[in-house]
Amino acid sequence: MEKLSCPVCKAENAQGPFCRRCKADLSLLFSLRQQLRARAVEALVKRDFGRAWRYYRVMKQNRRGL
Ligand SMILES: [Zn+2]
Repeated sequence: MEKLSCPVCKAENAQGPFCRRCKADLSLLFSLRQQLRARAVEALVKRDFGRAWRYYRVMKQNRRGL
């Protein structure tokens, strides 16, 4: 499973919904990530590669930014 870095303390978390270090609620971030991944897979199945690529880019940005 992919790691998600906490927006509060930057600790890496492999499991939700709370940050292992500061206990921030990460459930929104996790569900957003899951939604994005599901959409990207859906786009791939439909061979809509442009859209899939956009979702993957958003996921990458979230990992750094949020
Ligand atoms: Zn944290």
